This record gives sequence, C-alpha cells and structure tokens, in this order.
Amino acid sequence: MLKSVSNLEELTDLIVQASSDRVNAEKCSIMLLDENRQTLAVNKAKGFNGNQSEIKSTKVKLGEGIAGLVALKGESLLVTDVSKRKNYQSKYSIRYNSNSFISMPLKVKSDTIGVLNLTDKIDNHQFTERDLHSLSTFTSCASIAIKNALMFEELQNLSLTDELTGLYNRRHFYKCLENEMIRSGRFDRHFTLAILDIDNFKYYNDTYGHLAGDSILKQVSEILKTQTRGIDIVARYGGEEFAVIFPETQGTKNSITSTSSGLQFPERLRAAFESHSFLNISTGKKLNLTISGGVAIFPLDGKTTKDLISRADENLYHAKRNGRNKVYVGRIYPSKSDNSTQKNTTISRNSIQKLAARLTARKALSG
Ligand code: GH3
Ligand code: MG
Ligand code: MG
Repeated sequence: MLKSVSNLEELTDLIVQASSDRVNAEKCSIMLLDENRQTLAVNKAKGFNGNQSEIKSTKVKLGEGIAGLVALKGESLLVTDVSKRKNYQSKYSIRYNSNSFISMPLKVKSDTIGVLNLTDKIDNHQFTERDLHSLSTFTSCASIAIKNALMFEELQNLSLTDELTGLYNRRHFYKCLENEMIRSGRFDRHFTLAILDIDNFKYYNDTYGHLAGDSILKQVSEILKTQTRGIDIVARYGGEEFAVIFPETQGTKNSITSTSSGLQFPERLRAAFESHSFLNISTGKKLNLTISGGVAIFPLDGKTTKDLISRADENLYHAKRNGRNKVYVGRIYPSKSDNSTQKNTTISRNSIQKLAARLTARKALSG
C-alpha cells in the first residue's frame, strides 16, 4: 500500500493510521525535518482534540524535547512512564493522557528525515518493546515512501508543466501572467485572460471512470494546443480547468473593438469544443462535451493578477449559472428581478467602452 501512494498527504494519512492501529495508540503524529535539518514540523496528527491548525503549526528544534532528541540521535525512544522522566513531562503532559509513548526516527539508511510519535495506548496500557519492534520494519518502509514522496513534490515544484496534459502548470501560469502584465503595461497593449472549465465533467468521470476522464483531459489539452496561436500561453489551472493568456489582443487602450476582440479568441475555443467529437476510451464511442469560460481583459478588467483572475472567475461562474457552453466577458451584474437573467457590461472610463461592452454582452448572452 505504501508503495502505491506517491502523494505525501495521502501517504502520511496512511502511515499515521496504520502505525496507530498496529500498536493500539490513540494519538499519532508525524514530524518532518525541514530542508536545513534544523527544525521538526508536524506534518500529520491523528487523535488530538485541540486546535488542529495549532497542532499542525507545532515546531520543535533539533535536539529539543522528545522528538527533537530522537531526530538528533536517530534512535527510537520507548517511555513506559513519563512521570519518571522529569525532562519530558512538563512539555508534553498537556496534550497526552497516558504516561507511555513511543517516538521513532524516520530514517532512510542513516539519514533521519523525521519522527513518528505514538501515545495514549488504548485502555491506558503501556507501550512495550514488542510494540517498538513491530513498528520498526513498518517505519523503515514508511520512511522510504515519505522520502520518495518528498522528492516527487520537489520535482513537481521544479517543473513547469503538468504531468498529465503537458500544458504549463498553475504555478508557471501565474509567472507567465505576471510577466505578460508587465510587458503589456509597458507597451500599452491589451491581453486577454480566459479561464475555461469543462461542463459537467464530474458526471462523465463518475459514469466512465477516472481513466476515461484523464483521456478527455488530454484530448481537451490537444484542442487547446492546436486551436491557439504560438504566442498564447495555455495552462492547466486546476483539475478540469484551463487558463489561457492571449497576448496582443487587438485594439489599443481606448479602442471600441478591444472588448469584443478580447472575447473573440476564447469564443473561438468554445466553438471548437462544441463541434469536436471526443473519444470515450471506456466505450470506444464518440461523444460531445462543452466548456464554459470566464474572460478578463487587461487593463480594462484589472491591473493586477488578482483582479484579473477574480473577474475571469466571476464570469466563469455566471457562464455556468446561465446554462454552460458560454463564454462571458465584461462585468456581470445580477438583475434584481430575475437571478437567471444577467446583464453584462464593462466598467470603463468612457461611454464608448461601456457601449462596446453591452454589445458584447448581448452577443454572449444570445449564445
Ligand atoms: P460544472 O459544469 O459546474 O463545472 O460541473 P463539473 O461536474 O465539471 O464540476 P465539478 O467541479 O463538480 O467536478 C469537477 C470534476 O473533475 C471532479 C473530478 O471528478 C474531475 N477531475 C478533476 N481533476 C481530475 C483529473 O485529474 N482526472 C480526472 N479523471 N478527473 C478529474
Ligand atoms: Mg471546475
Ligand atoms: Mg467543470
């Protein structure tokens, strides 16, 4: 089981659960050493009643407290009665009910990467040498799995692309967005940001399975790659969400065409999806899928990445609310009389821009 999980979050869940089951401990925590190998921080904790975020933010210096000493020495510690160990008692009696605990280093060969702590054996029993022994093989495997997961995370952080689709990942997308903002700002240019979300994808996934879902995500990515220009930046923004930056969208700052041409590229993508036949690898049959999109235009809709993204997000939300398979741009105000009827306009400095936005809105709303 440990080998099959590469995600650190899931892995530490599994380790905490399995090790506490093994020795009947009510409380269990995993602490991991930081990059500089100076501080241990709680990565996962089970069975603690207190404030979870406080527990998770617990940090211990190497050599301090029980876990710190265990990490420093690289040797397991079995304490049957903490009350007889004055050094340990004061720090830990607050959180633990019983007097017995186990603290084990998580080691890969001679390299300590963290500590596993177990306490509060069920029925207030004391932990035994036998418990310690029964955990030791498990923790060696667990340590290797954690180390691999940490390396995997590190590699992912270094990479620019998403593994499944080969598109830019979200982190790199943010960098590109910032760069594009600086560039467009300096040269007084417009660019368009679109956030696209596959419609009703959960239903597809639940019906045909995760592998079929992954295949669709790849097919969607191919369309995005082929239907965009070389200068456009396409990223996987989230699970079934994609973000596209279209630099140099037509028009200058005060041009009446800027809003509509900002919509032109994302709208073209929406239409490409609508007319495409996707392959369902589970049934071997063709199927149709649609996407919805929210658009924001720099600098009309925002001059910061945060503002642009939230405008695009808002518009995506309205596109979903209004029946999906739509791409919205501008600013959308919910109508007082009817929530489902939306009015779309762009906040702009002059009336020409406002007019342009309304025209665009009508076009978008009429599908
Ligand atoms: P909506 O039209 O409102 O967007 O509905 P939806 O069902 O597409 O949206 P929702 O956010 O409810 O579900 C998104 C689903 O996307 C959930 C999950 O099943 C699926 N998903 C997310 N990431 C992946 C992935 O990497 N692979 C697969 N196969 N599915 C994924
Ligand atoms: Mg979504
Ligand atoms: Mg969706």
